[in-house]
Amino acid sequence: VEASYNRIEEVDGEVQAFLTLDKENALQQAKELDEARGNDDAALFGLPIGVKDNIVTKGLRTTCGSQFLKNFNDPLYNATVVEKLSDAKSVTIGKLNMDEFAMGSSNENSSYAATRNPWNTDYVPGGSSGGSAASVAAGEVFFSLGSDTGGSIRQPAAFCGVVGLKPTYGRVSRFGLVAFASSLDQIGPITRTVEDNAYLLETIAGYDNMDSTSANVDVPKYTKALTGDVKGLKIAVPKEYLSEGVTSEVRESVMAALKKYEELGATWEEVSLPHSKYAVATYYLLASSEASANLARFDGVRYGVRAENAETMLDMFKQSRAQGFGDEVKRRIMLGTFALSSGYYDAYYKKAQQVRTLIKNDFEKVLEDYDVIVGPTTPTPAFKVGEKVDDPLTMYANDILTIPVNLAGVPGISVPCGFSSEGLPIGLQIIGKHFDESTVYRAAHAFE
Ligand code: GLN
Repeated sequence: VEASYNRIEEVDGEVQAFLTLDKENALQQAKELDEARGNDDAALFGLPIGVKDNIVTKGLRTTCGSQFLKNFNDPLYNATVVEKLSDAKSVTIGKLNMDEFAMGSSNENSSYAATRNPWNTDYVPGGSSGGSAASVAAGEVFFSLGSDTGGSIRQPAAFCGVVGLKPTYGRVSRFGLVAFASSLDQIGPITRTVEDNAYLLETIAGYDNMDSTSANVDVPKYTKALTGDVKGLKIAVPKEYLSEGVTSEVRESVMAALKKYEELGATWEEVSLPHSKYAVATYYLLASSEASANLARFDGVRYGVRAENAETMLDMFKQSRAQGFGDEVKRRIMLGTFALSSGYYDAYYKKAQQVRTLIKNDFEKVLEDYDVIVGPTTPTPAFKVGEKVDDPLTMYANDILTIPVNLAGVPGISVPCGFSSEGLPIGLQIIGKHFDESTVYRAAHAFE
């Protein structure tokens, strides 16, 4: 824990991964654990962990990257995942920067600071869990938690050269995760190695009666799946994942990875996910609709900083929201409110739900015949700070290869698979069947 803080003091001025640190308390916790040590074999005993700032931590400020929650200094409870981490005797050392309310792909939508990519600080770390990925890449922590609604764990993991898994929807409790789009959000681990990742998922996964969407499905020992053996593994490679927009360097890295799988005894074939071209449009309708409902609670009364000098109650709501939310959050709330409004609901929201089913069916059909789906995590490596910030549509398009996985609800991991000529990491995405994280980990570990 001490080494972690030393490293943070050394590099975080530049990387800016952490929003809130609690050194005294964390050192105290570590000391108490050490004193009571005995023969403790808790998997994460004494390990320092960073937590994305949309996951509620008792007594530790939780801002969601938003000025609206800048005073949420003393949450009254822990998210279920944080309780589980503490039961496994790890030490939560601080809260990690993110795009405001997890809306973004570069961390530039944080209302506090823009986290930088540790490989080259002119580049973004990805988002929205940019702080979670950068903190691991910079060696500030070896374990962090992120959340993934449309790619927010896998995309920053790819940009920062670390391992990030979005579990199956329902695998990990969302209790205490500030909701963005409830039918898509999942918490997941970001680590340096696949093995670490498996340990962390083992710790946080499982049924929770505080989350009605958490699934009552047994949690296997994921670390047991890391056999190194992928002989006979059947890999599907969607042609849509290597087409237009994917840079030649990314394509070459993925092809090299497939070659390695062949050498290890796996086989691969090209398949099609024909509806994935509608995924970005579908996602932005559904995610924004859900966000517009979820974010209604931030009204300056129940949650959020209250605007001063308002004359009437309605005025107070309006001013609090106008001052508290950043531009991207407002854009999504307006888009979602529009899509859900009467007269438009059938044309947009309902249509998007129907297309979501087609996308999910595409994945299920391919995964009937194959063990995993493999492709790039992102079409390009990290882009420069400022490059896309004024162009939301280009920013949205960056998630084209991660979003379909959330819409389908299946698990997906990003593992490093090479570097661009500029020395920036490239990520390989491995997607599995519902609740079959074991095979995803096995495939990722053999490749690593
Ligand atoms: N970048 C996507 C968005 O802005 C995904 C974010 C996420 O997964 N939280 O919505």
